[in-house]
Amino acid sequence: MESPTNSLFSRQFAAMLQRQFDEEDANDRMAAMLQRQFDEEDAKDRMAAMLQRQFDEEDAKDRLAAMLQRQFDEEDAKDGLAAMLQRQFDEEAGEQLAAMMQRQFDEEDHLLAAERAAEEQQRVFDCKICMDTLPEESIARIEPCGHSFCKECIRGLIVSQIESRRFPVLCPTCTAEPDNNRPESIGSYVSVIHDFRHAG
Ligand SMILES: [Zn+2]
Ligand SMILES: [Zn+2]
Repeated sequence: MESPTNSLFSRQFAAMLQRQFDEEDANDRMAAMLQRQFDEEDAKDRMAAMLQRQFDEEDAKDRLAAMLQRQFDEEDAKDGLAAMLQRQFDEEAGEQLAAMMQRQFDEEDHLLAAERAAEEQQRVFDCKICMDTLPEESIARIEPCGHSFCKECIRGLIVSQIESRRFPVLCPTCTAEPDNNRPESIGSYVSVIHDFRHAG
């Protein structure tokens, strides 16, 4: 049987227990809320850390790309330098080849000139008056018969003919031919003598 006092006490005790229960419940909720908040912040930190790693990875990728680009640029520069050196070498080789060909050409030219000089020295004729074999440069050819004598002999012939007043001066070879009735006169003797005077 409950007394009013006991009943009041019981109600008060029950109310106290209820408050305590409510407080513990509120504490639990608060704790759970704090835990959730903590978990959220932890998740945010993890997310931030993940984003940082991702950022670091991208940064590393960028640095790697930049390094590869520099390496590529260096190789490109090396290739360019090699190509430039090759062109320079080719140009020098071309110049050397041209110089070598020029030297060879000059040598051949000198050789040909020497051969021509030797041929000219070897080109001789026999004078029908003095019977000497003489270089072609001392020839005096009578036109149009084409008979040749040395200049000394022609000069001597002309001088002796003029002194003997025998005109015209005839070609000695034509005159010596027994069946030649019209020997050529030495029509150009004046210029021949003129040449002699200038030759000294
Ligand atoms: Zn002669
Ligand atoms: Zn003649």
